[in-house]
Amino acid sequence: MSEESWPGLFNEVILYELPVSEIAPYFNQGFGRPTKELHTVIGVLILQQTHDLTDALTVEQPAFNIQWHYALQNPSDPDAAYSGHKGLGYQVQVMVTYTETSDEQEKAETLNLITYVETEKACQSDAQALIPAIETADERDLGPREVQADSLYGSDVNSETAKDAGVELVAPTMGARQNMEITLADFEFSDDGHVVSCPKGNKPDISNEKDGRFSQGFDPVTCAGCPCINECPVKAGKKYYYLRYDNKDVRIAKRRKYEQSDEFKVRYRWRAGAEATMSEFDRRTGVKHLRVRRLKAVRYCAALKAIGICIFRAAAVRMALNAS
Ligand code: SF4
Repeated sequence: MSEESWPGLFNEVILYELPVSEIAPYFNQGFGRPTKELHTVIGVLILQQTHDLTDALTVEQPAFNIQWHYALQNPSDPDAAYSGHKGLGYQVQVMVTYTETSDEQEKAETLNLITYVETEKACQSDAQALIPAIETADERDLGPREVQADSLYGSDVNSETAKDAGVELVAPTMGARQNMEITLADFEFSDDGHVVSCPKGNKPDISNEKDGRFSQGFDPVTCAGCPCINECPVKAGKKYYYLRYDNKDVRIAKRRKYEQSDEFKVRYRWRAGAEATMSEFDRRTGVKHLRVRRLKAVRYCAALKAIGICIFRAAAVRMALNAS
């Protein structure tokens, strides 16, 4: 449909003819703006007026409107895709080892390498990238015991799948945090998922489970008179105050509680090292400004550039060891 309608015409004919050279001089080659593909920028402005959209609505269209997405595909690289967050192009998933030391000498003498690199279209979900990274590294006997990642990789599915593979995922939980003082993590649970006691030490009067959903009924008089009632996730029902949840809710609540702990903050601080690797990857190899097009060629270049980073790092460690 998009091919035959206006998006097809726009992509196949108009996008190529947009007067990119007219506005190119106003974009700085060395700072910020060159990351925006100019065909896309002009195309978006035309389509905004064509469809009479506000700025706020316009920003959403390239990412969520399939017609806009089709119309604005990079004319010079049909494989490049649009991400509302990252822009037009590709993304490279990288897994890198790290060293838990603040000692500069020890750091300099320890080899940290990229153990996984994969290039994807920018529109692909980060959440889907974690498990393939773990599995692929594992196949080469480079599998991690622990992975630190940002919240986009921190879904419950990823956490559980990684755990099944013997890997601990240290990542903030995805989604909004409930703004309550008391959460499911403050209740005590039995191994089979039922509540043993509430944060005030009270046992539920009734305890049911059906199809993985649990319902615990607490004494209404006790709950109504409890000083925590406004902060507690129980809800008043016909006979009891009910707490309803499933195992995933409990896991997420426990992870969120752990994320608030000093232990998590101390462990998670090493995550920043991955940003340093990405920065080095770009600065030393120019991975963000490739001279090739199409996914196959971009993937090839990114993989070889990752090898280059490993070589630079190995050489630096060798020098540090020789010096000491
Ligand atoms: S409101 Fe009820 S369930 Fe919640 S802490 Fe108080 S007594 Fe326990």
